[in-house]
Amino acid sequence: MTDNQRRVDVIIVGGGLVGMTLARALCVHGLETAVVDTADLSTTLAPAFDGRCSAIAAAAAKLFQAIGVWDQLAEVAQPIRDIRVTDGASPLFLHFDGQAVGGEPLGYMFENRMLRAALMKTAAATDGLHLFAPDRLVDWTRGPGKVEAVLAGGQRLVAPLIVAAEGRGSPLREQMGIRSARWSYRQHGIVTMVAHEKPHGDIAYERFLPDGPFAILPMPGQRSAIVWTVKASQGPAIMGLSDAAFMAEIGKRFGDFLGKLELVAPRWSYPLNFNHADHYVERRFALIGDAAHGNHPIAGQGFNLGVRDVAALTEVLVEAARLGLDLGSLEVLNRYQRWRRPDNTATAIIMDGLTHLFSNDLRTVTAARRLGLAAVNRIKPLKTFFMREAMGATGKLPALLRGELA
Ligand SMILES: Cc1cc2nc3c(=O)[nH]c(=O)nc-3n(C[C@H](O)[C@H](O)[C@H](O)COP(=O)(O)OP(=O)(O)OC[C@H]3O[C@@H](n4cnc5c(N)ncnc54)[C@H](O)[C@@H]3O)c2cc1C
Repeated sequence: MTDNQRRVDVIIVGGGLVGMTLARALCVHGLETAVVDTADLSTTLAPAFDGRCSAIAAAAAKLFQAIGVWDQLAEVAQPIRDIRVTDGASPLFLHFDGQAVGGEPLGYMFENRMLRAALMKTAAATDGLHLFAPDRLVDWTRGPGKVEAVLAGGQRLVAPLIVAAEGRGSPLREQMGIRSARWSYRQHGIVTMVAHEKPHGDIAYERFLPDGPFAILPMPGQRSAIVWTVKASQGPAIMGLSDAAFMAEIGKRFGDFLGKLELVAPRWSYPLNFNHADHYVERRFALIGDAAHGNHPIAGQGFNLGVRDVAALTEVLVEAARLGLDLGSLEVLNRYQRWRRPDNTATAIIMDGLTHLFSNDLRTVTAARRLGLAAVNRIKPLKTFFMREAMGATGKLPALLRGELA
């Protein structure tokens, strides 16, 4: 190979949260990777780039421990020990108490930019991880035994497999002609951060209000992240409010249980859509993360599903490499698809159902869901099942999600 030609085990297109996690996970198992991203990744670390915070499940945290990223994350992690779900003014509520599953946190909150910074810092110290950003594919071909990609910067990459981790609009998915079911929820997720007088006690609140779900998520210090789902038609008007008027609206939904509130971050608005690819793999090609599936953030599952994809794909590829199999063969890649697509499909159906159920104000539907919440709260095995699901601890777990290398 010449200076501007590099042979690796996997080319990953998209260095977002999922692409960078995959690159690190493969490299710690001795597989060499090249990550290509169109963005200047240093700008994606700026506070103004992404206001989102992510709730990551306990199992995803174990993966970050196993691949050596947790050391960078521990001091910016906010544990979630309790989740309380309420529906409007109904006194019936669902309470997930971490004590009931051994007292371990149910998950952790992070600012997305902190997750990105930790992944970038670890990547810089990872042998066999080659980052090309900002750069882009200008040409790529799938030939016998290999994929060849040419980057705008002149680099040529050769590998048995290319993985698309470019997020929801994935151009590679389109070029491969893989169809995707998609629709818009006609809702926007408005996100921001507030400081409050009283401590949040590591508790996350999800409130299902008549105009949409309103999540209050604990962050380090006396701060909470807000995810306020509004009708798309109302989004621009809410984004246009003065800070004082915006905080008055937030205050009405937040309540006064944590004392006086102060806006401590800008607001961002994200259109909320659904997408799910018809299939995830072709010969020498795989989809991962939001490029494969995107859900409503009603239960904060999007990145968590991407982390589960990473764990499964890593295990499949590492085992194939040990057996000397072709990493880009359909025989190998179908194992990843069989492992992940049913779980992602089931979660997509549940998230979509919840979104419709909790965006509905018909009296019979409201009454039924309130009874449902109260029932789940009272039936211990059902409640434990939902809590273990929130922790990402159900189903056949790949080694990384148990905190072990594959
Ligand atoms: C309001 C909101 C709240 C959310 N809250 C949560 C939560 O609490 N928990 C959770 O688990 N999930 C949450 N999610 C979902 C989560 O943010 C996404 O699932 C996650 O960011 C997907 O990561 P990704 O790496 O697959 O895609 P992306 O984050 O979209 O990254 C894609 C990367 O690919 C790059 N790229 C794009 N096109 C190209 C190209 N042609 N060539 C090269 N590179 C390219 C981009 O620059 C980017 O770096 C939330 C989403 C929203 C909208």
